[in-house]
Amino acid sequence: MHDPDCIFCKIIEGKIPSRKVYEDDDIFAFHDINPWAPVHFLMIPKKHIPSMAHVTAEDAPLLGRMMTLAPKLAQEQGANPYPEGGFRIVVNTGDEGGQEVHHLHMHVIAGPRPWKKG
Ligand code: ADP
Repeated sequence: MHDPDCIFCKIIEGKIPSRKVYEDDDIFAFHDINPWAPVHFLMIPKKHIPSMAHVTAEDAPLLGRMMTLAPKLAQEQGANPYPEGGFRIVVNTGDEGGQEVHHLHMHVIAGPRPWKKG
């Protein structure tokens, strides 16, 4: 389940500090250390899935839960209401997809523009 060399697995275990947004048995969310926008947190499965290219049908309920939780957490973290507000979900996958940390993560980004990226 855990990769001892993975920075996000270490965050889940509390071995590396983070600013926690949410936690349950399967999902952990924390503020991005280098935010692109006023609201920027990462949602990760506790299970070490290296990327979106590695998901299987078995992971569908977990990914579904992450997607349905994202709007609630975005609102709690200060995203303005839809449609004037809203949020962006980004899942970088692989080198060409811009993925730097190889533990599947959803960026949830929101707040008034301009943003640092995008
Ligand atoms: P990119 O860095 O190009 O966005 P990723 O999609 O893999 O690539 O995103 C990794 C994200 O993890 C980055 O936004 C980075 O700021 C964030 N990050 C890295 N280390 C930490 C940490 N210790 N705590 C919080 N966020 C982190």
